[in-house]
Amino acid sequence: MNYNTKNYDYLIVGAGPFGAIFAHEAAARGKRSLIIERRSHLGGNMYTHKENGINVHDYGAHIFHTDNKPVWDYVNQFTEFNGYINQVVANFKGDLYNLPFNMNTFYQMWGVKTPAEAQAKIAEQREAAGITGTPKNLEEQAISLIGTDIYEKLIKGYTEKQWGRKATELPSFIIRRLPTRFIFDNNYFNHRYQGVPVDGYTAIFDKMLDHDLIDVQLETDFFNDKDTYLAEFPRIVYTGMIDQFFDYKFGELEYRSVRFESEVLPTDNAQGNAVINYTDAETPYTRVMEWRHFDQKGDANVSILTREYPQDWDRSKEAYYPVNDEKNSTLFKQYRAEAKKLDKVIMGGRLGNYQYYDMDQVFHAALVAVEKEFAQH
Ligand code: UDP
Repeated sequence: MNYNTKNYDYLIVGAGPFGAIFAHEAAARGKRSLIIERRSHLGGNMYTHKENGINVHDYGAHIFHTDNKPVWDYVNQFTEFNGYINQVVANFKGDLYNLPFNMNTFYQMWGVKTPAEAQAKIAEQREAAGITGTPKNLEEQAISLIGTDIYEKLIKGYTEKQWGRKATELPSFIIRRLPTRFIFDNNYFNHRYQGVPVDGYTAIFDKMLDHDLIDVQLETDFFNDKDTYLAEFPRIVYTGMIDQFFDYKFGELEYRSVRFESEVLPTDNAQGNAVINYTDAETPYTRVMEWRHFDQKGDANVSILTREYPQDWDRSKEAYYPVNDEKNSTLFKQYRAEAKKLDKVIMGGRLGNYQYYDMDQVFHAALVAVEKEFAQH
């Protein structure tokens, strides 16, 4: 079988952000790429589609946020952003709290009105829990940052259903993704630049890949003919799961998966916010998105809501979150060492690097990979 019909310089496996940026930058340098993508669409998990005038994020809520000005300028070549600021509400057994953890949350939880009162409350709870020194896991980290009450009501249930593991078995960095601040500010992110593309994320990829030197084949699985692809192309950019690339030879890396259930309601405001988290352990879903609130777009009197259910991952499901605990990190390092030995394969993206990347981090990593590649080739 001859796949390299046009004397391509690159085979790119996966049409998510890492692969698409690479193809775009290669084309700008006169290099020809073939992108193969297992799914029937571009954009990886950033993919969005329009329904009833509403941009629906098929793989869960994606809010672009970054402090990296070059990345922000880069992505703005392909779309305009709408200035959306994520402000998540948590529902714990019918009581509502603002996230991330800030003075509004502390007031709602304890009635405290000043930063000093909030800090005193947290210090008291940290001490009562006996947490000293460097936190060893997510539970200790959470209590140390915001005390036992918030841990019990807003973190423990959500985290344990999200990850299918005890909070004591999870790495502490996961909870540090959320800001803790002693001002009345519900912005979920600390980053300077934030928003959602005015025309959805898919339009970014349409524009990025619209070039004579880029061909895309959807519904094409690299693993149907891996060895031939490897033999025929001079350089390969691989953005799938690193353990699958090596046929799981050291064992399977673990991932966490999610599934989505959507419903269309005859209203234009069902829940009053783009995202509501359900932080108790019993509700089977973690959060509910109401898509029209992300960009104030949509036909009159129709709203689409999506519930996000965490689930165990197996090879029949989509791998969403790498589980960056010690066991998996050790295994990943074995695969990474193996990947370094391959002279014509570049691995990248969330699955290729087994990293809990935000979108801006993937953009950054792709631009770094491009720079390195074209300094040499
Ligand atoms: N988290 C939590 N309660 C919440 C929201 C988040 O305990 O209401 C914790 C949970 O452990 C989660 C982590 O914070 O995995 C990171 O949350 P984030 O919203 O950044 O996760 P993502 O949007 O990437 O799924």
